[in-house]
Amino acid sequence: MTAVHPQDPEETMADRADALVLFGATGDLARKKLFPAIYEMARAGRLGVPVIAVARSAWDDEQLRAYARESVQAARRGGVDPAALEHLVQNLTMVVGDYGDRDLYARLAGHLQDAKLPVFYLAVPPSVFPRVVSGLADVGLAERGRVVVEKPFGRDRVSAGELNEHLVSAFEERSIFRIDHYLGKESVEGLLVFRFANAFLEPFWNRNYVAGVQVTLAEGFGTEGRAGFYDGVGATRDVLQNHLLQVVALLAMEPPIADDADAYRDEEVKVLRQVRALDPATTVMGQYVGYLDEPGVAEGSTTETFAATRLAIDSWRWEGVPFSVRTGKHLPGSATEAVVELRRPPRLLFAGQDSSLPQPNLVKFRLGHDDGVTMTVQAKAPGARTVTTSVDLDVDFDEALGHRREAYERLLDDAMDGSRHRFARADTIEEEWRIVEPILDRDARPVPYYKGTWGPAEAEHLAGRWHPVSLRT
Ligand code: NDP
Repeated sequence: MTAVHPQDPEETMADRADALVLFGATGDLARKKLFPAIYEMARAGRLGVPVIAVARSAWDDEQLRAYARESVQAARRGGVDPAALEHLVQNLTMVVGDYGDRDLYARLAGHLQDAKLPVFYLAVPPSVFPRVVSGLADVGLAERGRVVVEKPFGRDRVSAGELNEHLVSAFEERSIFRIDHYLGKESVEGLLVFRFANAFLEPFWNRNYVAGVQVTLAEGFGTEGRAGFYDGVGATRDVLQNHLLQVVALLAMEPPIADDADAYRDEEVKVLRQVRALDPATTVMGQYVGYLDEPGVAEGSTTETFAATRLAIDSWRWEGVPFSVRTGKHLPGSATEAVVELRRPPRLLFAGQDSSLPQPNLVKFRLGHDDGVTMTVQAKAPGARTVTTSVDLDVDFDEALGHRREAYERLLDDAMDGSRHRFARADTIEEEWRIVEPILDRDARPVPYYKGTWGPAEAEHLAGRWHPVSLRT
């Protein structure tokens, strides 16, 4: 098997971390994703280090352990390896304190006195990141540790730049791991492999043959009890600026010239630099009916729960090809899908003057559930006349390749290893903010839409016509 991301020399030398510190261990992300990911490390025999949980809540070790147990059991729905779970919980220690208080970091340093290379995971609200980074730097923990920073990375280009400056003032660049969990998804990485490991795509992967690209990240659910958080963020900051632009970059970038982390990210940032800043005139913002009544949502909030827009890439490969992207909550189901539509072939010979044009070929990447690729091709319809019909060539990667690991499992393991391939670089994030800047904080009210629909009607025509996506309802 050929390695997709072999380690670069700098990273091969990197050591595996010898402690994991989880700030915000009492929170939602820790419960839903991080404890299950740590459990998977334990199950794979790759934990073997102390895990220190930090929070303001005055929990003791037993409360923390019960929380971790419940979290793993809920995530794995009964299929839990008891020995691995026990290994995880026995490695857990609770440290309680206020993030603005130097004493918290001094006590943490006491717990970490034997650790040469701790990983600090900031699973706390973004407003708390700077305080934690300063606290770690004050007691000398930053200079020997790595930091994992959750998204959203800033609220706009300026605040992202400030946060970055703060991080690099305390940690070395190679020790900073900026999460965009889409980069950790096997399916998203699979897109890159499908493009660059299959020679047949390359000849038509350009403006001469591609008529348009559509990317949909649909959620069939709402704010799931996190409306207070979501109301300060909205669909553009939550999904479009990071996940959707990452998918666009992977679809549109040139092949990296080497296999180290920076060569890959150089190409990513290069293509993002060629994306024009978004035009409010070709952007539709929506808000589902009922959102304003949810607890935690500000009165009269103009936060968008739906965003659709059209991107233009000024490059030799993509000039003139529309990239339409959309995301929203309470849509008819959940899906993450990219559809590349090729130009239509001309009228078929022998089919008669009244025959319609053959349908265009589609290459569909399913990046969420049931990930895989479907290529829609034209074949002769049975019968006397020479007319075509669409048929799908489909591969389901789970079926073909077996189970793959979840994004957070891979990302946490990577951070422990010091491998940065699947993390965002500061210049990538800066470009993403530049692209979305014109559509942030608009005064106009988002257009209302009903739950279970594809958002405001205005968005329907943005892509000409959206191709159907495979939904999980
Ligand atoms: P939570 O709101 O659940 O907060 C995490 C923990 O941080 C809380 O348990 C709380 O612990 C502490 N905390 C909350 N507010 C404050 C505050 N004002 N000052 C200091 N501590 C506070 O966040 P999530 O777990 O949902 O998210 C954590 C990070 O991960 C965020 O940056 C978020 O954007 C990101 N993220 C979350 C996702 C999710 O699905 N939840 C998905 C993607 C990213 P205590 O009071 O015990 O200290």
